[in-house]
Order: sequence, then structure tokens, then C-alpha cells
Amino acid sequence: MRPFYVVDQEVKAEIKRKRGKMPRIIDVHCHPYTKEGWKSLGKFRMHLEKYLYKKAEVTPESVSEEMPTDEEWIRPYRELEVVCTPVAWDAGTTMTGDGAYAPDEIYQPNTNDYIASLRDRFPDVVVASWGSVDPWKGQQALAETERCIKELKLIGLKFQQCAQAFMVSDKRFYPLWDLCQSLGAPVQFHVGYTGMGSGAPGGLGVKLKYTMDIIPNVDDVAADFPKLKIIILHPAEGRDDDACLVCMHKGNVYRETSGMWPKYLPGNVPKMWYELNRRLQDKIMFGSEFNLFPLEGIIAQHLELEAKGEYRQGILEKLFYRNTINILGEELERVGVDLKEWEA
Ligand SMILES: [Zn+2]
Repeated sequence: MRPFYVVDQEVKAEIKRKRGKMPRIIDVHCHPYTKEGWKSLGKFRMHLEKYLYKKAEVTPESVSEEMPTDEEWIRPYRELEVVCTPVAWDAGTTMTGDGAYAPDEIYQPNTNDYIASLRDRFPDVVVASWGSVDPWKGQQALAETERCIKELKLIGLKFQQCAQAFMVSDKRFYPLWDLCQSLGAPVQFHVGYTGMGSGAPGGLGVKLKYTMDIIPNVDDVAADFPKLKIIILHPAEGRDDDACLVCMHKGNVYRETSGMWPKYLPGNVPKMWYELNRRLQDKIMFGSEFNLFPLEGIIAQHLELEAKGEYRQGILEKLFYRNTINILGEELERVGVDLKEWEA
């Protein structure tokens, strides 16, 4: 199997031909699962290797061996003329045995310093980065949030409530949303189904309740913090209607597309697909979930759907960059991104 960080040259040529003069695509959600970075998924990554990629023998050493270096991780973005905003990962309380899940010696966070360093080392590709704090760390999480935004100049914060085992509407975490709102830092919340632990006995301890109830959980936070920009991640499989309704009802809630092959969107999340072409056409951004998915494969399928007339005129261009500039332009500028190539 070709590693996902090695671009299929035929697909690349097809993408180039189809996208024409379009400016660089902006990818708002991806993970640096690199030689060290993959360990942020710990045992879940080990399981994914079997569940998603159908591998028989998996050891931490074999996974590290197959993962890209930072430089290799960046390469597909350069080749395909895509910029990205990768996410950090801190679920230390729950993924190291102090909390809900069993001990896992493989786990290590994808730190905010690392995610900032990707941006600093590869500024042509990584235009901004999302930080991560473990919400269970209380005051420490608040201090780290401030450091992320003020010192590291990260654009906002990403949360994975299944991995971090918390409800966003739990009042204990309201100081976090309050702080993000006052700092002008948008947040990414996982919604719907998760691949973490999928198919394993007990789902490796992961509880779906943390991400399935978009109403009331995400809806409450959106209502209580109207100036907090919330990007709900993924197609919200299992909660298609609710994700669309919250995004429609709350002006401060947005969406992105990562985590599912685009060709399955019309069948698996028909409401999202319908509204992506209609009432939510200005609210959904492109995300890839690279390198759990191959970047060129994801982009090629979006372009294929457009070629088949499944996307209405102009929608894919909105998805690929226009919406992101409209939704996150202010925040991108705050962290020093020059928007002129997309505004021209
Ligand atoms: Zn993700």
C-alpha cells in the first residue's frame, strides 16, 4: 500500500487539470501523524491500523517506521498546492490512565510547541495551527490556552470530547469557553461518530455520548457564548440533522468536511450534502483529516463530484477556500496570514 504522504502522480495531474486557476485550497483540519506525532493517538492508532487499514501485524515500532518525517508530511501539501492548519492533541488525563481509560504507555501529546514549530518551520504550507488543552487540567488548561493564543500565536483550540471524555456543555468547562471567547480564539469540536476505538471490544472504552448529542451540548455552548466561533468537525455521522440545524440556527457555528470520503457524503449524510449545496453553502469549509486519509484522494473525489454535477455551480470553490476566508479571515490575519492570494 502506498503511504498516504506519497502523492499518486496520476491523481495529482487530474487534480491540476480540473481545478484550473483556483488559488491554493485551505485545509482547516488535519493531524501531523508523523514519526512522533502518531503517538498522540496511542493505542487507538494501533487499533486503527487494523480496523481502517486492515493490517495484520502492528507494533509501535512498525507504526513509527511507516509514519512520515515532518518534511515528508508537508510534501503533499506543497505538491498539491494546498495550505493547512493542523491541530495539536492533549488528552493526557484520559489517555494515560489517570481517568476513564486504561493505561497506555504509547501515548504522548502532540504539543502546542510542536504544532507551532510546524508553522514556523514550514510557513509556506502550515499557515496557522490549532492548539489543544486537556480540559480536565483546570487552571493549567486556562493558562495553557492563554499561552497558545498570546505567546504561540495559534489560531484557536481543537477538542476531541470522546478522547478527552468530557461534555462541552458541562458548566465546569465554561471558564474555558469564556476565555476563548474573550481571546477571540475559535474552537473546533468533534461531532458525531468517531473512528477512535471503532470495532474494538468496548470501543476501547470510548463513549460516544460525548460527541453524539450536538443538541443540547454544542447548541448550549453556542447560545451561551455567541461571540465564540465554533467549528463542528466532520460530517456528524449519526447526527446529520442536528448538526445541520445547529449550524443553521447559530450564526457562530460552522462546519468542515473531514473524516469521510467525499463520495460517501451524499449517501451517509444526505442532509449535510443537501444543505451544503443550499442553506449551509457559506458555512462549510474544507478539511482533509490528512494523514488518516490521503490528501490527493480526498481532493480528487470532491472534484469528481463537481464534474458529475453533484455540486452546484461555485459551491466547491466556496468549500475549498472562499468560506474559510470569510469565516476565519480575521483570525488568520491576527496570526499573520496574508490573505491576498485568496482575495484577488
Ligand atoms: Zn481529526
